[in-house]
Amino acid sequence: MLNLVLFGPPGAGKGTQSQKLIDKYGLIHLSTGDLLRGEISQGTELGLEAKKLMDEGLLVPDAVVIGMISNKLDANKDAKGFIFDGFPRTVAQAEALDTLLESKSSAISGMVALEVDDDELERRLLLRGKDSGRPDDADPAIIRKRIKEYNDKTTPVAGYYKNQDKFTSINGIGSIDEIFSAIVAVIEKY
Ligand code: ADP
Repeated sequence: MLNLVLFGPPGAGKGTQSQKLIDKYGLIHLSTGDLLRGEISQGTELGLEAKKLMDEGLLVPDAVVIGMISNKLDANKDAKGFIFDGFPRTVAQAEALDTLLESKSSAISGMVALEVDDDELERRLLLRGKDSGRPDDADPAIIRKRIKEYNDKTTPVAGYYKNQDKFTSINGIGSIDEIFSAIVAVIEKY
């Protein structure tokens, strides 16, 4: 099984690269952001709770996203593998993911981190906000809050995978195809 964690700050291009990786490797895409937005659009209780935090640029509780991922793993038992996009975002989530995969006799193959500087991120997110309609993309103060949450709570997740010798970082600035080729080169070594 190929189980890839695609890592990087908001606006790093994880969604774009995930789509290309799915096409090439036939993986299932698990984006906690997309799953949460799905809950919001269905008007579920979970969605209503999550929306308040998301609109402020804050993370939703670990237990909520871990539960969603666990359900999706169970629902896709015959998958060739998974791309985890926007998850794990805390060390507690990374530990929970290892436990979930272990119970299915599987494991994370590796993490690929897309490196993009903060100014470029803010520029990309504001641009995306014009089409995405996402409330959290529209306001520079919220975007900066998301980047701060990332720097405080999510960057330690890279260390978690470094300790397991599963971490590779690549330049996230360049053409979509250049970045894709760099990710594929990493995957081919797993
Ligand atoms: P981006 O990476 O561009 O910020 P996402 O769609 O991945 O966008 O996430 C949007 C929001 O959803 C986050 O700011 C956060 O509030 C919430 N979220 C998504 N994934 C997680 C997660 N794994 N843990 C906690 N909150 C999450």
